Amino acid sequence: MLNSIADNLKQINDRIERAAKRAGRDARDIILIAVTKTVPVDTIEEAVRSGIFKDIGENRIQEARPKIKALGDKARWHMIGHLQANKAKDAVAIFDLIHSVDSLELAEEINKRAKGVGKVQNILIEVKTSSEATKHGVPTNNALPLVKDIAKLSNVRIKGLMTMAPFVDNPEKARPYFVKCRLLSDKINKEKIRGVEMRYLSMGMSNDFEVAIEEGSNMVRIGRAIFG
Ligand SMILES: *Cc1c(COP(=O)(O)O)cnc(C)c1O
Repeated sequence: MLNSIADNLKQINDRIERAAKRAGRDARDIILIAVTKTVPVDTIEEAVRSGIFKDIGENRIQEARPKIKALGDKARWHMIGHLQANKAKDAVAIFDLIHSVDSLELAEEINKRAKGVGKVQNILIEVKTSSEATKHGVPTNNALPLVKDIAKLSNVRIKGLMTMAPFVDNPEKARPYFVKCRLLSDKINKEKIRGVEMRYLSMGMSNDFEVAIEEGSNMVRIGRAIFG
């Protein structure tokens, strides 16, 4: 199992490298997040111990909790799934970066819970760049006002944007959604909003990560291409 994971990762890293080169970027600036939903904790532990990845994405608190308990700070933990406000407390307790903040209400709840434990929670704003990919995310046109509101909260820090392209047979068709997200990130950056940093663009999954990198992604979230 570990051998095939390591082989898959080697191929993915080569593809990341080539995509970065095409875009005139340095592959070392691109963070590969191994998406481990449905992957058993033993397998993850082995992979992390042998140093083949360090960033891990999970989309459900319940599934993430025992994994984080087992591995703790040997990995960096990313919440990539939809988060309900009533789970904010749990998310703040265990995740380094929450990619899926799409409302002021959720951000306020995260802020409150982070304050309660003396943490400043790093977050990304999830942007809905397509009508079909997901029901979650703030519509592109509403993102800037949302960022401005969330920026006023003391215990959350906006570190960038996340988006999902619709699932398409040809990854080229995902490109316009990544472009849309990058342009939005540039626009927010120009506003120089206090405390807001457009440092990460979390875009690209197994089927479309190369196109996402060509369009500026520096966090790719990859599951199936690693774990089969
Ligand atoms: C599952 C998931 C991924 C990984 O998808 P793959 O197609 O397995 O690479 C990425 N992002 C989110 C939000 C996911 O839920």
